[in-house]
Amino acid sequence: AAKKRQTGSAIYSPQLDAGSQESLSLLSELRRAVEGGQLRLYLQPKVELKTGRVISAEALLRWQHPERGLVPPMQFIPFAEQTGFIRELTRWVLAESAQAWAALNAQNQALRISVNLSTRDLMDQDLPAKISAMLAQYGANTDSLCLEITESAIMDDPQRALETLNQLHEMGFKLSIDDFGTGYSSLAYLKGLPVDELKIDKSFVLAMETDLGDAKIVRSTIELAHNMGLTVVAEGLETGMAWKLLAELGCDEGQGYFIAKPMPQEQFSAWFKAWSA
Ligand code: C2E
Ligand code: CA
Ligand code: CA
Ligand code: CA
Repeated sequence: AAKKRQTGSAIYSPQLDAGSQESLSLLSELRRAVEGGQLRLYLQPKVELKTGRVISAEALLRWQHPERGLVPPMQFIPFAEQTGFIRELTRWVLAESAQAWAALNAQNQALRISVNLSTRDLMDQDLPAKISAMLAQYGANTDSLCLEITESAIMDDPQRALETLNQLHEMGFKLSIDDFGTGYSSLAYLKGLPVDELKIDKSFVLAMETDLGDAKIVRSTIELAHNMGLTVVAEGLETGMAWKLLAELGCDEGQGYFIAKPMPQEQFSAWFKAWSA
């Protein structure tokens, strides 16, 4: 049965039945969010650890809800994935990201934008065409966009995911494996994937300073990525010590609160300017 939704707390609970009254009303609320301009695109930088140079920014979705305030993605993305509504959200994020890329580029803040994709997006046959049309509208080429995909999104239907990923890769998009190390898939699948980047999950990075086991995982993931010719990014970089350790281990890029939190484009642009000065 559907769990009662309370104001101020989680909008989405995994117990929500698809097709229930609550689920339907949440879906229409989400639809209104897209149409009524309640979605916000936040950007968080990824920087090169050796130089501090800004390489890219990850696009992260927020919902500016009229009553509940700023709602984090974990409170509505899983629901959107379950219902398939994620495709609408992804389309919005892609369009907004292309626009942000163009605005930043016009201020000499050249970077790549990373967008998160879900299983449902990978199953969408029209996705590659949709993405390139969106980019063309803003004069961005395929190289300006990186697509982040989790292991589990790929493992849902590896055959079809691989088809889409190959197509996207041939078109020139950069592809990244997100949350690496949290899935239970074998490493063997990695070698067959047309990816360019691997992101070490923040759980390992956050624990690495205090837990030797996590430090070992981080170290061997960096080695693995480099052996496969991939760029490796550490997420959850929260301290100066973590930066130092990761740089020593040869990790290429970092993303985390120590560098900057996700923020709206205007603020991101000001941050970029100050950071690069
Ligand atoms: P993710 O793709 O793994 O994104 C990174 C998350 O880590 C973000 O949470 C970010 O704010 C957070 N983070 C960054 N640096 C640090 C740090 O130093 N410490 C800690 N503790 N956390 C850090 P956020 O924005 O709440 O997003 C959560 C998840 O929601 C994302 O995880 C992603 O799976 C999903 N998501 C967000 N936006 C989108 C979207 O547009 N589409 C899809 N499909 N999923 C999205
Ligand atoms: Ca991500
Ligand atoms: Ca991640
Ligand atoms: Ca994650």
